[in-house]
Amino acid sequence: MSSIRVRIPPSPTGLLHIGTVRTALYNYLFAKHNKGVMVFRIEDTDKERGTKEFEDDIINGLTKLGIAGDEGIHIHPNSRNSPKSPNSRKYYGPYRQSERTEIYKKYLQELLAGDHAYYCFCSKERLDKMREEQAAKKLPPRYDGCCAGLDPKESAKRVAQGEKAVIRLRVPRDKDVRWRDLVRGEVAIQSGELDDFVIARAIHDPLYNFTVVVDDHTMEITHVIRGEDHISNTPKQMLIFQAFGWKLPEFAHLPLILNEDRSKLSKRKNKVSVDDYLKEGYLPEALLNFLALIGWNPGDTKQEIFSMEELIEKFTLEHVHKGGAVFDLKKLDWINGEYIKKAIKDDVDTFYARISDRVQGYDAALVKKILRDPDFEGRFKKLSEVPAELAPIFAPLPDYPLNLLANEKFKITPDILKTTLTAAKKKAESLEWKKGDSAKAKAISDAMISLVAELGLKNGQVLWPIRAALSGAEKSPNFATLAVYLGKEETLKRLDVALNKLK
Ligand code: GLU
Repeated sequence: MSSIRVRIPPSPTGLLHIGTVRTALYNYLFAKHNKGVMVFRIEDTDKERGTKEFEDDIINGLTKLGIAGDEGIHIHPNSRNSPKSPNSRKYYGPYRQSERTEIYKKYLQELLAGDHAYYCFCSKERLDKMREEQAAKKLPPRYDGCCAGLDPKESAKRVAQGEKAVIRLRVPRDKDVRWRDLVRGEVAIQSGELDDFVIARAIHDPLYNFTVVVDDHTMEITHVIRGEDHISNTPKQMLIFQAFGWKLPEFAHLPLILNEDRSKLSKRKNKVSVDDYLKEGYLPEALLNFLALIGWNPGDTKQEIFSMEELIEKFTLEHVHKGGAVFDLKKLDWINGEYIKKAIKDDVDTFYARISDRVQGYDAALVKKILRDPDFEGRFKKLSEVPAELAPIFAPLPDYPLNLLANEKFKITPDILKTTLTAAKKKAESLEWKKGDSAKAKAISDAMISLVAELGLKNGQVLWPIRAALSGAEKSPNFATLAVYLGKEETLKRLDVALNKLK
């Protein structure tokens, strides 16, 4: 095992988001490719928006997808007596920020003691007024350093007496803050662009930029791989690392996921909760394959279907894109369809287990036979489509209108309909087949096609009414496949239903 350690630290402020899964996946692939460790922790400092329900959803989701990593909240849910990290003798937890308050407090005190941070007593009113004045002068909103010169001992006394104060980082002036981002290359800002920002609302109430640095340092994180939306936090976090004199991790900022109109991926235009995708019948492995390709490419190949092993082998940060990456639902559908095809071919029983609750009441043995029938291959883009595709065979015949049988395209008159359906029924009566015997499809097909010449009609004038009569639907598999799986009795019944509509 190498010393590489990465992390995924979601905030439990919503259901598991597709963007979080992509970030987790890239961390996972990077860790596995480099034989390192991935840490999964929960950032629950935002007590107003975070909930236990969201936390559970995120933990269960990443675990189910198999990309939750080697160490962290999913393995050590309740801290203290947990086993050690797989690459070290050390225990790095707890992995939930709300259980780390004492750790943060200790480090906040360290910064205060070293005068790298100070208490700020400015009231909200004062700060609002300061910002208004800055806005009027068209200056950026920055803390004016009012409390920066207070005597730390005095401040500590005031706080001890119960006065409210936030803690600010003392940001050095005129310092070049730069890093070589592993995705974006050189990124630099002047520290003068930052003010003395707040790192804690109080000694026991630290904020994200502070807690994340303490966590990344104490958990010995070597690579911070996260969404581009955090790029503005990175200089602040670097300044905190530097205030402690800690070694900086490497940073890699991933491109945002975009809707097709290139706006930021949003609920209004796409589903964003992973559960919704799984419920609709996207296979976890297809979803991961698809997400791997949003913002990354394997470089030298046009290949698009990758097993997890292949992704691990090929994944490097050099091939992560700088620009935003579009969420292309059609591509997801295509990839999912390919995975479904393969899953059916590999092992129909396992595949059936995945859809059994969607096809309750259908004859299981027959469903499995149909799934393997070449005529059904590639018909399912999502698991949710399976029941609808099988409905012409398993659901009761719908009460369709007469004109479904007489497709205009083929100029089918009522006379032609009657001739065709009567002849088709006769042919069917003369044939013998067992329900589900797909070897008989060819004989049934040949027999019905021979009617075209026998009756002197066009293909469509014969084959459309038969297929429509058997399915009661605009679209369905071909008539011979339907006849095979409906069985002879039901086939004859459905031809009768059609003939009766003519009366
Ligand atoms: N809690 C942050 C989020 O969910 C993680 C930020 C980070 O990776 O540093 O976006």
